[in-house]
Amino acid sequence: MSEKLHIAQNLEDALLFRKENDCIVMAGSSDLMVSAYQGYGALPKFDKPVLLIRNLEELIGVRRNSDGTVEIGACTTSRQIVESPDTPWVLKQAAGRMGAVALRNSATIGGNIANASPKGDTPGPLYLLDAVVNVMSLDGGRRSIPIRDFIIKFRTIDLKNDEIITSVTIPVSDKDMTYWFYHKIGTRAANAISKLTLCACAKVSWGEVKDFRIAATASGPVTNRSRDVENIAIGLKFDELAAKASEISGAFDKVISPRAMPEFRREATRRMIEFFIDKVSKNSYKKFYN
Ligand SMILES: Cc1cc2nc3c(=O)[nH]c(=O)nc-3n(C[C@H](O)[C@H](O)[C@H](O)COP(=O)(O)OP(=O)(O)OC[C@H]3O[C@@H](n4cnc5c(N)ncnc54)[C@H](O)[C@@H]3O)c2cc1C
Repeated sequence: MSEKLHIAQNLEDALLFRKENDCIVMAGSSDLMVSAYQGYGALPKFDKPVLLIRNLEELIGVRRNSDGTVEIGACTTSRQIVESPDTPWVLKQAAGRMGAVALRNSATIGGNIANASPKGDTPGPLYLLDAVVNVMSLDGGRRSIPIRDFIIKFRTIDLKNDEIITSVTIPVSDKDMTYWFYHKIGTRAANAISKLTLCACAKVSWGEVKDFRIAATASGPVTNRSRDVENIAIGLKFDELAAKASEISGAFDKVISPRAMPEFRREATRRMIEFFIDKVSKNSYKKFYN
């Protein structure tokens, strides 16, 4: 067992340490310190050296790229994500509902993705927006992987031993869609891990659905999204969309695989989808959240 802690001075230093050591990458530490907790008064226990990256300026911030995409550094906290004018609305909803204030000051988006929990708050919007996870290793090794491929399965990500998540790139902006929906069901307003979250968006032009997306978290081992289901809605007029609401929610029901409380999760997911479709087809609001 090693007691070693390396506080990275810059990204190159972090990547060098990562290359030379089988280590644990630590960002905000909100997941890691809980899993390493040994009881009151005892030091947390890590079975590998720890590489602390939370203060690396290169990995912090939300910026709009010249091609219109938004890039969020891996060590950007939930609070910073909420406060940035460039953060897509639906991701702001998720980041603003994570934990409580203290947690949102430390929890990072990179940590939330790497944790690969089906109940994590940011993966839902990131799946919805076709986000790409950017990773780097020493000597300029870079990969960009769609989040749906990066999160391989429950608690498993496509990250090599010498790599660090550096940022996430989001190609879809608020203006690309006409309607947005975000609803997180939890037991409390704060410190509530999602029991079920649905986010959705639709682009409608001249009364016809041009794009339609649904992503659900806490409804299976990973976030659920299905282009096949979404394609049912694409190309429909408002009245046709309303008529297909139960077909669409029924098709999505086949995609999700909730283990705990499946009846509740299936029924609530169906209702949220049908609620969203009802509002879109009546053109009654542009953004809905709870
Ligand atoms: C009280 C409490 C409430 C919580 N509430 C919520 C909630 O409401 N919603 C929610 O989604 N989560 C919640 N969490 C979980 C946690 O806060 C989040 O998952 C958070 O985003 C993790 O980020 P972090 O920076 O703290 O990660 P860390 O704890 O530092 O790391 C988590 C994992 O990610 C890896 N990692 C981190 N950064 C990188 C990187 N750049 N490259 C490669 N690997 C990396 C680490 O090695 C580790 O495996 C809660 C946790 C606590 C303790």
